[in-house]
Amino acid sequence: MAQKILVTGASIKGELLRPLTDAGYEVFHPHHDLKEDELIDALSGCIAYIYGGEEEASERALKTAKDLKLLAFYGVGYESFLDVGAVKNLGIRISNTPGTLTNSVAEMTVAQLINCKRKLVHYAALYRDGVKGDEEVLSDIGGHSVGIIGLGEIGTRIAEILTMGFGCNVSYYSRTQKPETERKLGIKYVSLNELFADNEAVIVMTPGNAETASLIGAEQLLRAKPGFVLVNTARPEIVDQHALLEALNTDRVACAAFDKFYAPSPETDELLAMQTDKLLITNHIGSLTHDARDAMTVKAVRSVLNFLASGTDENLVV
Ligand code: NAP
Repeated sequence: MAQKILVTGASIKGELLRPLTDAGYEVFHPHHDLKEDELIDALSGCIAYIYGGEEEASERALKTAKDLKLLAFYGVGYESFLDVGAVKNLGIRISNTPGTLTNSVAEMTVAQLINCKRKLVHYAALYRDGVKGDEEVLSDIGGHSVGIIGLGEIGTRIAEILTMGFGCNVSYYSRTQKPETERKLGIKYVSLNELFADNEAVIVMTPGNAETASLIGAEQLLRAKPGFVLVNTARPEIVDQHALLEALNTDRVACAAFDKFYAPSPETDELLAMQTDKLLITNHIGSLTHDARDAMTVKAVRSVLNFLASGTDENLVV
């Protein structure tokens, strides 16, 4: 009897899963978000699980999946979606798909930077509503200063686009200094506080975890100059919610963009009311392109085949 593989995520194209069936596996690919009990049923007898949907891969569900050997995470930031310690304890390995969404997320981040700086959403709404005479002269991003927090895969691509494409003056703060990238792109390493004091905009691109929670708070936001823009296409919790509210209320931050938002609370209600003039929120759409999705599927499928054939793969992270 063929061994079973579960693939979740309605946007995953069936034809890209063909290498799995060609290799003799039986693929189950539901096209709706699974509730926990449905996930438990779907995982029964599966040896691999490509986790590309919006379901919660809970410890309870994974515990019942006695045959499961590999969870192939569809994306990079698996720590934000999985209880990694629990998955590890169950003896399930995890792979991810690095490099597949770098450009898509970088493009979307730069787009939000331009949206905030040039108030594109605001001006589109003015035109729609027939309002005239409310024009404010704004500045380009070309030739202006931008800071980046987290110079990894995506942060580096953003730095490339901003320096090579727009001629921006880029500085960065990251866990590890990157002298080679500094030389290549002409960017400089500064402290976190300097990044906020010296730049007209800051982009957040570190992983979301206990170490980075509230990495950005009042101490940093109070250093921002008038007109400052904050773009966070990583996890919302990296920015302290209370400090953000204060900074937007006092115009320390002129505009902020987030690609996922905080869990609901009275403070989030106040923040949500600032949409869309001062706050642009999207819901994790950074990699929502055919280019990224197809590359992620190809890589996840390859990891599953490699791992099931040889017990290893270059993209194993746990
Ligand atoms: P990455 O290559 O691992 O880069 C992360 C960078 O952050 C690394 O340079 C790392 O430093 C740095 N870093 C880690 N902890 C830090 C800390 N405490 N302080 C300062 N810097 C720190 O990851 P990536 O592929 O660029 O992705 C970054 C994040 O983007 C993901 O974790 C995810 O949250 C987000 N993301 C969002 C979307 C979306 O759709 N919006 C999609 C994909 C990813 P080292 O160089 O020392 O490791």
